[in-house]
Amino acid sequence: MVELTVLGNYGAYAPANSACSGYLLDIDGYQMILECGNGAFSKALKYTDATKLGMVIISHLHHDHYSDLYCLRQALKYQMREGLRTEPVILYLPEGPESLKAEFESWDDVFMVVNLSEAKTTVNDFGLFQLAFFSVQHQIPTYGVQLFVSGEKVLTYTADTGWFSSLNASCKDSRYLLAEASLKEYELAERGDTHMTARQAAQLAQHSGVQNLILTHFSPEHNLNQLRREAEAHYEGNLYMSASGKKYILQP
Ligand SMILES: [Zn+2]
Ligand SMILES: [Zn+2]
Repeated sequence: MVELTVLGNYGAYAPANSACSGYLLDIDGYQMILECGNGAFSKALKYTDATKLGMVIISHLHHDHYSDLYCLRQALKYQMREGLRTEPVILYLPEGPESLKAEFESWDDVFMVVNLSEAKTTVNDFGLFQLAFFSVQHQIPTYGVQLFVSGEKVLTYTADTGWFSSLNASCKDSRYLLAEASLKEYELAERGDTHMTARQAAQLAQHSGVQNLILTHFSPEHNLNQLRREAEAHYEGNLYMSASGKKYILQP
């Protein structure tokens, strides 16, 4: 069974009792955290003690996607010290500021860093599942993620991105699409090259043949009911608004 639990679903900053980007994936008991923004790791501890955590993927080095890596590292250090864990966690990291990359790479006591720029061009086969990465359109190097289980493209995650034409091909026929919807329509002219509106995410899902769309990476300043209505007008599949604690069975 493949299950996705939303830990945090906000961009930039999170409102009270919420968290920025973070998703816990459980693939037949193997646990993975996709994004680890502020507040995401403490939310994860509601669902896992992290001893089964095998992998963390960070799509890009904006703070709302990585800042809880600092907290996760402390928990992993404790687990190593106490013999609760023997293996490091695989950490997929994108390019970014050298000082930041150097800091994360120095945490080799708990993480085994894999560069996304290299992973993008190779097969990432973990037996139970496979991963593929694709570049998206954002202010800094950012990677979307495809998860394959039993030969099926179970999940595609857009990360933070503006809409661009080849995004449709990356999302094509994915069972679930986890897509960002950061912008309001009036913001599109100014910021549409780096983020999407709910309408664009809905059109992306519609044109890619995706039957299940989960919208995420909301701004705390936006009305989520309005975003839902904008998406519904352009999408015929199952539409879900992400929220911390929501679970989705991606594959039974
Ligand atoms: Zn973000
Ligand atoms: Zn970003």
